[in-house]
Amino acid sequence: MCYDDADGTAGRQEAGRDSPSRRAFSRLLLAGTGLAALSACTPAQSFTPSGTPGPTPGSGSATPTAAAAATSPPTSAAPAPGADSTPSVTQAPSTASAIPPSARAHPPSAAALPPSATAPGPQHSLSDPTSPWVIVNKHRPLSPATFVPPDLVRPAVRLATSGEAALLNSTTAAAAEKMFAAAAADGVIITLASGYRSFTTQRATYGSYVNSRGQAEADTASARPGYSEHQTGWAFDIGDGSGADAFTPQFKDRPAAIWAKANAHRFGFVVRYPWMLHEITGYFYEPWHLRFVGKEAAADMRARGIGTLEQYFGLEAAPAYL
Ligand SMILES: [Zn+2]
Repeated sequence: MCYDDADGTAGRQEAGRDSPSRRAFSRLLLAGTGLAALSACTPAQSFTPSGTPGPTPGSGSATPTAAAAATSPPTSAAPAPGADSTPSVTQAPSTASAIPPSARAHPPSAAALPPSATAPGPQHSLSDPTSPWVIVNKHRPLSPATFVPPDLVRPAVRLATSGEAALLNSTTAAAAEKMFAAAAADGVIITLASGYRSFTTQRATYGSYVNSRGQAEADTASARPGYSEHQTGWAFDIGDGSGADAFTPQFKDRPAAIWAKANAHRFGFVVRYPWMLHEITGYFYEPWHLRFVGKEAAADMRARGIGTLEQYFGLEAAPAYL
């Protein structure tokens, strides 16, 4: 996940380790770690179907909650990731994590919500890793932890990786092929930089961090095995073929990232870890990490200005491991 080696990109990121922006971002990471530790005390609240009081932890299918629209949209007015800034406490998980049923009756612009907000169509599980709506974050490991997608395929796209990392589940692969082709038609090169990552690979990556830096720091840089969205086959990282700014916050200004941010929803993808919403997602801004959720949900989130899947589905924020 993070710009880090949850994305398994240690080598490339080492190159920029001493740059000013890198240091600034590292400070951001450290500051975020502190906030995350505080926020981890937030009482747990699991997904509640819209308009239906009473949580049903990790079970059944989901209806996106209109109340999530109460949260400000991400990034557009936010400072650049490399800026000398600190995470805003206004992005605290309480914004999204504890949405009482009463609040759901008063979304700020309910009348303007698209039809999909009230009739979201087919529903999917938030817990089944074969579901396009499965939510994996620092509070929600995959179940089973060693899950392997049954339909991994190599998409016919421009690859910047090989082996298992060039694989996606079949639905995501098909959508990626369409998206990459559409970008190419617009003159924008997008490459698949990292797709599927097995439990075994994640365990090795995370373990190397723990061995070299200790668990606390490892947790800021790498997903624990069983907690990486890459293991689902529904997520992947993009590059632009040049390698420039790969897996760094500056990637947001590359044509591939700009195009993806503006168009990914048309193909069913969301930028999973938006700028300044790390207190909800548990990960700092990753303009390269896309997640398939289906066209309807992706478009609905965009139309309603909802930045994270946690908010969209009314799940608690997951800033840190429990
Ligand atoms: Zn990623």
